[in-house]
Amino acid sequence: MSKYQVDANGFYGEFGGAFIPEMLYPNIEELRQEYRQILSSESFQQEYQQLLRDYVGRPTPLYFASRLSEHYGARIYLKREDLCHTGAHKVNNTVGQILLARHLGKSRIIAETGAGQHGVATATVCALMGMPCIVYMGEVDIARQAPNVARMKMLGAEVRPARSGSRTLKDATNEAIRDWINNPEDTHYIIGSVVGPHPYPDLVARLQAIISEEIKEQLLAAEGTEDPDVLVACVGGGSNAAGTYYHYLDREHVEIIAAEAAGLGVDTGESAATSALGKMGIIHASKTLLMQTDDGQITEPYSISAGLDYPGVGPLHAHLFKSGRAKFVPVTDAEAMEAGQELARLEGIIPAIETAHGFAVLKKGHIAKDSLAVINLSGRGDKDLQTYMDYFKLSE
Ligand SMILES: *Cc1c(COP(=O)(O)O)cnc(C)c1O
Repeated sequence: MSKYQVDANGFYGEFGGAFIPEMLYPNIEELRQEYRQILSSESFQQEYQQLLRDYVGRPTPLYFASRLSEHYGARIYLKREDLCHTGAHKVNNTVGQILLARHLGKSRIIAETGAGQHGVATATVCALMGMPCIVYMGEVDIARQAPNVARMKMLGAEVRPARSGSRTLKDATNEAIRDWINNPEDTHYIIGSVVGPHPYPDLVARLQAIISEEIKEQLLAAEGTEDPDVLVACVGGGSNAAGTYYHYLDREHVEIIAAEAAGLGVDTGESAATSALGKMGIIHASKTLLMQTDDGQITEPYSISAGLDYPGVGPLHAHLFKSGRAKFVPVTDAEAMEAGQELARLEGIIPAIETAHGFAVLKKGHIAKDSLAVINLSGRGDKDLQTYMDYFKLSE
């Protein structure tokens, strides 16, 4: 049994579990009992693989970045999740979960979203399947993320504002959970990352594992080996990273690097670097590393990247950090923005700002000369153009 897979009780080492209110128990229990069997069934796999191919556009290329490689003196491949339909890896998960929902006999979908990317990916698959979609989103986030709100509405989803607390992601999640408790019969809750109560972290990791499944095959064809020296991904909740690492977790000779958002700097009070700043706590019904005050109040995180602006990290990643299996590298806003511009100018690819955090590990010297590296290009930067423009004063 792998040290890095979830155990029978839903834990990765000391992290994970399902710390849920009593009223949520039937929903979670139904999912826990059914998910593995459904995911491995032939009918699920057939439909999932077909949609990944014809709708999402998989397999995504593994691209040898020659100018970037030359610049850093390494052999660098990019896994092009930015070329997925909707522009990022998140749709791998929502396609899988909506099929799971149908197998469970559910007819109504709910989701939470912060930056809106997961809301868009969920609204997309609901339109595809003709299922009603309700996305809970903090009132503050609705105002900040207007283009994604417009996308969700265009796709036919209902966006319900969360008006309590700080009116951001945490509050949207609370509203979604309340909805689920009130509608246990017909509703499936699609969580957007490897977070939340067991079995969600494992479910989402399995649905994103297609990323490393393809990397193995593609690297073998290109380089004659399945194993790079080092794998790099950015970590918000941790789903694109979990997918990138999944089939390599037990291959300890493959180094794993996780780039996390340090905001203005780890020690500035304006950061989202969970491994550096987090302590054991419970968020979204899961025991994990969490940024909190001395008396256990969740600290408001900060990052220029909306998708990494999360005060915790999935329990798998807390375990990878604690066990030393993964090296966590905090990346500041400025380092990420520079890396994003560098990738645009060297390779003609504008990455999402989340993704740019992963590329910053190059300039920070974490990729040894001559090594074979794979960096997961989790999403495209179209949604971030205004932020790039403002940051680099490109409109002047
Ligand atoms: C949402 C998002 C992330 C962060 O989420 P994870 O669950 O950590 O992958 C990273 N990159 C992109 C492009 C995203 O949209």
